[in-house]
Parts: sequence; C-alpha cells; structure tokens
Amino acid sequence: MHVFSIPLTTRFRRIDVREGVLLRGPAGWAEFSPFADYDDVESAAWLRAALEAAREGHPPAVRDRIPVNVTVPAVDGPRAHAIVRASGGCTTAKVKVAEPGQSEAQEVERLEAVRDALGPAGRIRIDANGGWDVATALARLAVLDRAAGGLEYVEQPCASVEDLAAVRRRTDALVAADESIRRAEDPFEVVRREAADVVVLKVQPLGGVRACLRLAEDVGLPVVVSSALESSVGLAQGIALAAALPELPFACGLATAHLLTDDTVVRPLLPVGGAIGVRRPVVAPAALARTAASEDVAARWRERLERCAAVLGEDLADVLG
Ligand SMILES: [Mg+2]
Repeated sequence: MHVFSIPLTTRFRRIDVREGVLLRGPAGWAEFSPFADYDDVESAAWLRAALEAAREGHPPAVRDRIPVNVTVPAVDGPRAHAIVRASGGCTTAKVKVAEPGQSEAQEVERLEAVRDALGPAGRIRIDANGGWDVATALARLAVLDRAAGGLEYVEQPCASVEDLAAVRRRTDALVAADESIRRAEDPFEVVRREAADVVVLKVQPLGGVRACLRLAEDVGLPVVVSSALESSVGLAQGIALAAALPELPFACGLATAHLLTDDTVVRPLLPVGGAIGVRRPVVAPAALARTAASEDVAARWRERLERCAAVLGEDLADVLG
C-alpha cells in the first residue's frame, strides 16, 4: 500500500491537500480516499470500491473516450477564464457557486468569464453543493442563467430532497442530484419525489463501479459520472464506470487531475480534445516517492483503513502487499 499526500492547485471543498491510500490487488492498483470528515461507516463504501477495482478489475467498456467537463472552483473571473482555456479542449464547464462568503456579483463575474472562454456553443452547468434555500436558489438561478447565457443544469441547489423537488417544480432549469444520491440513506427518494432530472454518481462513495451500474439502472435517469477529486488511480475507477454505462448523454466530471499539483501515475488522466481516453494509468515508483505522505499521515491512514476493513469484515492481506 502507498499513502499519498498531494497539495491542490486551488482550495476546493474546503481542503488544500488531497490524501489517500493506493492498494494493489491481483487486478491492479486502486484508490481509497474518503474525505477527512467521513466516518468509518461511510468511508467503508469507499473501501468496497477500492477492493473491487483491486481484486476484480473493471467491467467491459462500451466506449473508449469519455467527454468531460472542466471544473471551475470558486475563483475570480480572470482565473475562471484561464482555467477553461487551459482545460484540454473541454466544451462543457461546471462552475462552483454558493461558496460561503462570496456574493452574487462574484458568481456573475465567474459565469460571464466562463461563457466568454467557452464561446456560444459551450455548455455551462453550476454546482451549489446544497448551499441555497429554495427562495435563494430560485432567485439566483434566474440571475446566473442570464449571466451564463443559459445553464445546462444546476447540481444540488439545495441540501434536502424535498427542497430539490421544490426548486425543480418551480424553474425550467434541469436539476441534478449529487449529495442527495451519494450521502443519502435512500438514493431512491430522489426518484420517488421527482426531485432530479439527472443523477451524479461517484464510484468511491457509492461502493464501486458495479454498484453504480446497478444503481444507474434502478434509478433510470441520465447519469453524470464525477470524481471525488482523486488521483488518477481513483479517476480510472470513474472512467471505468463512464465507459461501461449503456448511455452517457452528458459530459462527465472526471477532468479533475489538474486540480492536484502532482499525481501517482506516469501519465495522469487529463482530457485531450475535451475527452479522456479509457485506460488504466500506470503507477510509477518515482511518482509514488514524490507524493508519499509523511509518517504521521501514513499511520493515520493505516488505522483508518483497518477500521473500515473491520466495518466490512474484510481481510486486506491480498491488497496490502
Ligand atoms: Mg457536486
């Protein structure tokens, strides 16, 4: 096993450094990288995903390129413009909004800059990470739709499924559910309450590629596969899901390797011409050495891994090598 610690290029999701563990099983390398604020029970799903990738590998792919969006954090207009222009040809952008402490004017500036960088044919989606109440969401959506020159969809405008459904009923914007799927006790509540048009699936929090394929089939809504800000080993698990889904009508949120200042592989999974090729990246000893966490951090992750293995009743001998 390898514990990595990689600084982010921009503060994101209120973290500055991405940490996690790489495991190696008979089917290859896999990543276990639950965020620090997730408890052992929730993090156990992330371990299930890693064990599946390390032991069983990926299901058959039905496509060899995954169209992806560029992700624009809560940065100012000039920086947002530069991120889109440096995105490897992405024609869809996902722009973070509802950042605590930021104003509507800052969001408008960011969206106008993204539209300018993408041109009229580009698609813009926004992600509020559940940060708005219903009234704020409805008011802000009207303003931001104008600033963006049209929104493809709004991801998780409000935190609760009930509020998502209320927003969806009262606006023309398509609504995507993210946290309401992956952090919910019952992901089907979104379907029952008709709270979303699109679901965002993330492989690690949902327990693996095969679990996500089953969930996608059961939910019956269009799927956008997104990353959890992983290194390219974890991103490959998302790419595998996107490659195996029967339909993939939207660009995926898997172009996040550039948000990390380094990676664990020889050739990170970065987009070319707006898409990422379906492949399993090669883990490199030099990259592992560069990204190795300090002894304290590594010890903390070893303990976390053991606790999550205990939750699953799993013996990790075959993947700790
Ligand atoms: Mg999201």
